[in-house]
Amino acid sequence: MPTIIIRDDDTSYFTSPQRLAALYEPLWQAGLPVCLAVIPWVYGDTRVYWSDGNPHDPGIPPAYRGSQANYCILDNRELCHFLNKKVAAGLVEICLHGYAHTFYEFITHDRAAIRRKLDAGMALLERAFPAASIRTFVPPYDRISPVALEELIARGFHISTRSLNLAPVPQLPQISGFAAEEIKPGQKLFVCDDYLFSHKRDAAESLARARAALAKNDLIIISNHYWMFFHPWRSQPNPADFAAWQALLHDLLMREEWRIMTFSALAGGG
Ligand SMILES: [Zn+2]
Repeated sequence: MPTIIIRDDDTSYFTSPQRLAALYEPLWQAGLPVCLAVIPWVYGDTRVYWSDGNPHDPGIPPAYRGSQANYCILDNRELCHFLNKKVAAGLVEICLHGYAHTFYEFITHDRAAIRRKLDAGMALLERAFPAASIRTFVPPYDRISPVALEELIARGFHISTRSLNLAPVPQLPQISGFAAEEIKPGQKLFVCDDYLFSHKRDAAESLARARAALAKNDLIIISNHYWMFFHPWRSQPNPADFAAWQALLHDLLMREEWRIMTFSALAGGG
């Protein structure tokens, strides 16, 4: 009987409610929650240095790629209004997803810089989503330094990331795959080592991986990026990827014994 957490990364100033609703409205209609990793102050000229040619981050709309400016989540009032209603209904957990979401933003060992970004990011999200209890951190690009992890532990954040970040921090449970374990009472680490859905993979293969993961794990974290279903920033979802996602949603909604939860709820923090 698996427990399922749905995490969607990269909601930002650039995100329209319609794109999120296209993917998650069936869950919300059924009263089921989604964890959104939200970028407070997204930087337009973010480049992905692990890819050939250092392309722009695909989560930034083409018209803004290369813009050397930051865009504040508060300035997308339609999105904030939409998400605040979802938060009030218990249908969305807002998670902190870095600050500007520049490449490897949290791999620095500069503790003062990490603290400034956490303070500033939290301040923006708390203004944007005043009723949200923001207790979970998702590192940009799923890479994070030991110093940043120590800072998150000290601040009491739940952490959702890949296992490859954990070895230098012995106080963290050394878990891998899909797993969750307590860091301290009331504070949990959630590991997700496989993004099941990817626009770089055949849609049928994404669906097969997700179904296989559900069949053999007690806990699954489905880590999506909403923009990948619209890649490269089309107005409508790519039909094959969208059909695969809808097929998985159908599975999730038909199996009433499967529990869909948020990070905070599973950690016992409500
Ligand atoms: Zn991200």
